[in-house]
Amino acid sequence: MKAAVVRAFGEPLVIKDRPEPEPGPGQVRVRVEACGLCHTDIHAARGEWPVRPHPPFVPGHEAVGLVEAVGAGVTHLSVGRRVAVPWLGWACGRCEHCVSGRETLCEQQINTGYSCDGGYAEKMLARAGFAQPVPQGITALEAAPLTCAGVTTYKALKVAGIRPTQLVAISGVGGLGHLAVQYAKIAGATVAAIDVTDDKLDLAAELGADLVIDARKHQAGEVLRRYGGAHAALALAVDEAAFEELRSGLRRGGKLVMVALPPHGTVRVPVFDTVLNGTSVLGSVVGTRQDLAEVFRLHAAGRTSVVYETRPLARVNESIDEVLRGEVRARIVFDLGAGR
Ligand code: NAD
Ligand code: ZN
Ligand code: ZN
Repeated sequence: MKAAVVRAFGEPLVIKDRPEPEPGPGQVRVRVEACGLCHTDIHAARGEWPVRPHPPFVPGHEAVGLVEAVGAGVTHLSVGRRVAVPWLGWACGRCEHCVSGRETLCEQQINTGYSCDGGYAEKMLARAGFAQPVPQGITALEAAPLTCAGVTTYKALKVAGIRPTQLVAISGVGGLGHLAVQYAKIAGATVAAIDVTDDKLDLAAELGADLVIDARKHQAGEVLRRYGGAHAALALAVDEAAFEELRSGLRRGGKLVMVALPPHGTVRVPVFDTVLNGTSVLGSVVGTRQDLAEVFRLHAAGRTSVVYETRPLARVNESIDEVLRGEVRARIVFDLGAGR
């Protein structure tokens, strides 16, 4: 089976023929139909974060496919079931985080496409308990971006605790941001979308953003303050300067939720403003299995639209360049036989 492999950080990925993996106890083998290209995969392939994966590895954590073989002890998934394999590939289920509904904080977690091989491949293994069944009516190509971009932003808005009538700023309208705009609208918020390309700003408006801010021409913080300041702001752009700009646009009591992970990112948080204004700076990482189930349910009910372009896996390196140049309409999804 073919897989796109990171052999060394910063080098182009190489398409390799690899033996078909055999599912061990508690695992399933998935014939991948589609896998989204999350910006995290680019950070992974370049080894940009403090905790690095170990080459050679196969990236990809927006994987969707059909269960093809089940390992010993797997009873709730059968061959032919469509599942999604997210970043949270496994969590222990016993630690204080797991048992309090915060499994994404589990210290023993296994991350798909990072600490185990992911979905840039024709076949992959998944821990059955973390392979999320995809409801009827959702195609593999649509399910893929929901599996990380969707669940991550849906969860980040939960973390922000937004309520109807609040002003929510979404900085970066890429894979994550285009879904964040929609979830914030579903939650009843007024949405300000910020980006640096015309296409993304147009897309945000199409998806229901009430206000679009071109960060090339305007200081987002100043514009947000003109509207009274944001109750919550999601930092989804891979640019730490954009985080500081967003923080300055918070309303008193507002929350900045950090989601993007710019390499070596550091944000200066002024003590005086933070104390006097009662603002918070929080982090949010992906979402739980329950969050993903909710994301799928919303999509199955026709309440979200997933914007994507397909590419063959053989074009993985060109696709990464396209994302970095900001030329992609929201998300690239590798089509590994979704139409078969
Ligand atoms: P993406 O490349 O699809 O989107 C980024 C968007 O930001 C693009 O639309 C780009 O035009 C825009 N942008 C760039 N500079 C900007 C600026 N100064 N101001 C406003 N917008 C700007 O990336 P993505 O896949 O959506 O991922 C975004 C980030 O989120 C990455 O760092 C990724 O690793 C991270 N991520 C985090 C989690 C998590 O759980 N915390 C999950 C998934 C992804
Ligand atoms: Zn991701
Ligand atoms: Zn745990």
